Amino acid sequence: MSLPQRYRITANTIPAVAIADAFALSGTSVEHKSCIRCGENEKLWHRLQWLDCPRKCVLCGRAEHRGDFCFRMPNFFPGVFTRAWFAEHAALGGWLPWENEGYEFYILVRDEALRQLEYAPSTKTKLANAIAEAEKARVEKMEGKTKKMKIALQKQLNQVRVRDQDEEKA
Ligand SMILES: [Zn+2]
Ligand SMILES: [Zn+2]
Repeated sequence: MSLPQRYRITANTIPAVAIADAFALSGTSVEHKSCIRCGENEKLWHRLQWLDCPRKCVLCGRAEHRGDFCFRMPNFFPGVFTRAWFAEHAALGGWLPWENEGYEFYILVRDEALRQLEYAPSTKTKLANAIAEAEKARVEKMEGKTKKMKIALQKQLNQVRVRDQDEEKA
């Protein structure tokens, strides 16, 4: 269902629980679905840049405050958009986007995740790594066994030597 051309979201027009529900799957991780700003279901790279999303803000219906949070979040729904909410939905580390640290976190999370996405290894690379790891583990296990055998053998040899010396003395 599409939103009406003009709508007004305030604490008086929409209950906070409805806002919380509408934003339940908004966020910047793979488990999330929609962009925190535009409210559309979007790919991860778009959702990671939610503050910079070029579309209209779903809360105020306007194309303003691009690069910035929507004032409706702290003003009307502070009980929804909490530190815990932003930690879970935007990985802001316990900060709010209207705090300097929160904005810095946004940039860090965005840039780091986008960089990882760009260099994300393919299935083939991951499989090749897994095979190499398994092979390495197998070799190490074998080497461990060989080492143990050598130690055991050395012990036996030493015992024989000691016995020989004892026999010579006797
Ligand atoms: Zn968006
Ligand atoms: Zn807005």
